[in-house]
Parts: sequence; C-alpha cells; structure tokens
Amino acid sequence: MYDIIIIGAGTAGIAAYKEAIKHTQNILIINDGPWDTTCARVGCMPSKVLISTANRMYDIQHAEEVSLNVESKIDTSNVMSHVRQLRDRFTAATIRDVNSWPSEHKISGKASFKNANTILVNNKEYQAKSFILAVGSTPTFDQKWKDELGEHLITSDQVFELETLPKSIAVIGSGVIAIELAQAMHRLGVNTTIFARSKKVGSLTSSNLQELAQQTLNKELNIKFEVLPDSVNKTEKGVNIKFTENNESKNINVEFLLVATGRKSYLNTLNLSSISKDFENIRNLPVHSETKQLADFPIFITGDALTTTPLQHEAANEGRGSVHNCLNYPQVKNIKTLTSLGIVFSSPEMATAGQSFKRLKQQNIDFITGFVSYEKQGRAIVLGKNKGAIEVYIDKKSRKLLGAELFVDSAEHMAHLLSWMIHQDITLDEVLDQAYYHPTLEEGLRTAFKHARRQLNVAH
Ligand SMILES: Cc1cc2nc3c(=O)[nH]c(=O)nc-3n(C[C@H](O)[C@H](O)[C@H](O)COP(=O)(O)OP(=O)(O)OC[C@H]3O[C@@H](n4cnc5c(N)ncnc54)[C@H](O)[C@@H]3O)c2cc1C
Repeated sequence: MYDIIIIGAGTAGIAAYKEAIKHTQNILIINDGPWDTTCARVGCMPSKVLISTANRMYDIQHAEEVSLNVESKIDTSNVMSHVRQLRDRFTAATIRDVNSWPSEHKISGKASFKNANTILVNNKEYQAKSFILAVGSTPTFDQKWKDELGEHLITSDQVFELETLPKSIAVIGSGVIAIELAQAMHRLGVNTTIFARSKKVGSLTSSNLQELAQQTLNKELNIKFEVLPDSVNKTEKGVNIKFTENNESKNINVEFLLVATGRKSYLNTLNLSSISKDFENIRNLPVHSETKQLADFPIFITGDALTTTPLQHEAANEGRGSVHNCLNYPQVKNIKTLTSLGIVFSSPEMATAGQSFKRLKQQNIDFITGFVSYEKQGRAIVLGKNKGAIEVYIDKKSRKLLGAELFVDSAEHMAHLLSWMIHQDITLDEVLDQAYYHPTLEEGLRTAFKHARRQLNVAH
C-alpha cells in the first residue's frame, strides 16, 4: 500500500510529487495524457507568448503615442511557429524534470476509484493510505456546434496549434481567457469579433472599473455585449454565424470559432461515487474550502479540479500543502494560505489583489475606496499608456489595506506589491510611509491611498 497516490501530473500534481518525495519514496503518480502540464502546453505560457508578440506589434503600429512616425510592414507568418517554439521550450523543461523521476513512481493512464483506498489504472489495482486528486479541467463547448463545425470550432486546447494566424475569428466569451486571446488575435491583424453573453469583461468586480474596462476595450475591439450566435454553420472556408443585434438579424463569416466559455473539471473521470453515493454529483462534493479534504476521507482535491482560484500558483501551492495533509492525516491544515492575486494579461492589464470589491460587499465589510485615474498620471503619459484606473479598499475601522482592483498598464507588477503588502497586514498609514520613486506608475497608487485617507479623515 502506497503512502500517497497522486492522480494527475499537471501543476498541482507535479508540485505534490516534488514535495512528497522529500518525505517518502512510497508514492505513485498517475497521469492521463501528456506530462507537460496544461499551463506550459496550452495555458499560461503559449498564451503569454502570443500576447507579447501582439502587444509588440501594437506598440510598433502606435509609435505615434511617443511621437515616432513609423511606416511598418510587419510579416506575421511566423507568429504561430514562434508560439510553438517557445511553448516547446517550456514543456521540454517540465518533461526533463518528470523523466528524472524513478520509473516505478509513475504510471501513464486514466485512474478511477474502485473504493475509498483502491484505484484502477490500465486494469490494475493500486492502493494507498491517502490520495491527492489533481486532475485539472478541460474547455467546455457545445457538442452540436462541434459536430457541425468540426475542426473550425476550436478552444484554447487547439488555438496554439493553428499553422498560421487566421484571417478572421469569432470568439465566444468575454472572460479572462477569451479576452486575452481575442485581443492578441485582434492586435495581430486577425479580424476578430467577440460574442459576450453578459455585459462583463475579464475579472473586475468593481462596477466603476468594469464599466471603464468595457468602454476602453470596446474602443479597440469589436465586442458584441449580450449577443450570442443564433446558429453556426459550416461553410466552404469556415463558419457562418447568424445572430440578432438591436432586433436585427445579421450574419458574419469567419475562418474559426474560438469557444472560451469556461472549463469543466475532470473529477467526473474518477468514479467518485464508488467511494460514496454522496459523491455522484461532482458539482456538489463535500470538500472543505480550506483543507481541500473530501468529506472525512484521506482524499484531497487540489488545483483546477475543484477551485474558485483556477491559477497556476494556487494549484502549485495546494499541491504542496496537500502532501502534508496526507502525511499527517487525520491532522489536516488549511492549504489555501496565499493572499489572493489574479492577473488578466489584457491591455491595459486587469488585476485583483487581496479581497475583490464584490467579496468585500458580500461580507458587509465597512470599507473606503481610494481611486486614481491613470489618464493624467505623469509616468503613464510619458509612456503613452495613460488609460485605466486603480481602486484600493481600506477597512474603515482598522485602516488596513484589504484589497485592490486594477485596470492599468503594468498592473501585474503593482498587483504583486499590493498583494504582498496585504499579506503583511499593514495599514494605509504604513503604506503611505513607504518610498515612492518619481516618476513611476506606483506614484498613482499613492494618489489612490491619499484619496482613501482623505475620506477616512473626514469620516472621523
Ligand atoms: C489559455 C489559458 C491561459 C492561462 N493563463 C494563466 C496565467 O496566465 N496564469 C495562471 O496563473 N494561470 C493561467 N491559466 C490556468 C492554469 O493553467 C491552471 O490553473 C493550471 O494549469 C491548473 O493546474 P492543475 O494541476 O490543476 O491541472 P492540469 O495542469 O490540467 O493537470 C491535470 C492533469 O491530470 C490529468 N488527468 C485528468 N483526469 C485524469 C485521470 N482520471 N487519471 C489520471 N490523470 C488525469 C490531465 O490529463 C492532466 O495531465 C491558464 C489556463 C488556460 C487554459
């Protein structure tokens, strides 16, 4: 009987294996499909390569923002092979790592439970004292559309495999993955139409910032808010999409339909109902939100398989933490220990650090919002990136920094600073005592904090 069996070798599973091996050799990790992680193969990394090339192209074509006249002729024919080349470099690093593990620790195959301490893989049974379920998720799409469109319906799993950039694409969805990919495609010269079920883009929960993001992104992108296709049909060259906009029937032809409307968990492959009848509905599993324990079994669910934070760093942290819950069972600890940090690589970037506006409201917390617009922010003007705004949320009583939402250039860096400060549990006054170099985008943060302080001082 193994000490731990880890099911799934993505970010969470690999992090769990690397932690477990420090404590026991009696472990097994099982993975269905490639061993190079969703993040490196079809997620974080290839998407960021595409976005980085797209943003460079945008900057060249908009060099007038810093007073340069550029006559650019840009050849994009190598963009997709560049994406794959860098992607292969990142996946190769992971595969090298996995190849260095003892072969008796690894099995390729799909695992499913026979009972609470037995699993089946390739028709063989394996038993363990505890399990880490790190099976991740897969993009959702309408099977009827897929049957009709065949390879012209793609998801993030296929988009990076396109030989060359298409001439046109329709993106369904306006969430994080949809917006990142759609804006990159648009900036690379692909005629891009976005169909959004609701009036929401990306991740921002503050209505002020959400509205600003919608307006700003809609100036650049063709986003059809609250419009979805009425029908999709295969044509000789791609896809015909019929839709209704302002009570008018319309249609467009595109080469590909990219569906980015969410992901579904692979927990349904594990036959969890063989452990307990209560686990038949995987959407309603009794999993503790902090320890990630499944009911009172020595089974822990980590990463995208079941989470409110489908992010690489959260998956890795949960993977590591769950090992200690397995080894110390029945003593189990909170493994959701990180201060929230979420980034959308749109342009301007969106980010949330600490508690979001929505979360604070839901908890009825009495807080002040400090606001700064970046339209007149000195450094942002210098950079030709003077768009967007930031909100910081301060607890009225304790004056502690609780959270922030950002829609601004370089949000990825400022959100890190903010999340680290929130983790230190510091007050607004302590934040304002820090150094702010001039001229930087961080000075805008100080403006937001001062705005909050003025309101607090009036309130008392
Ligand atoms: C397009 C895109 C962009 C993204 N960008 C970012 C980003 O910029 N930053 C960020 O933090 N996050 C990003 N993410 C999210 C990030 O990729 C995920 O949070 C992370 O990969 C989750 O890791 P995981 O270990 O839970 O799952 P995975 O890495 O998906 O691993 C799960 C593994 O389990 C295997 N498996 C499934 N069922 C079974 C079974 N029954 N038996 C055995 N094995 C099984 C799967 O085949 C897979 O190999 C992005 C995701 C996408 C799709």
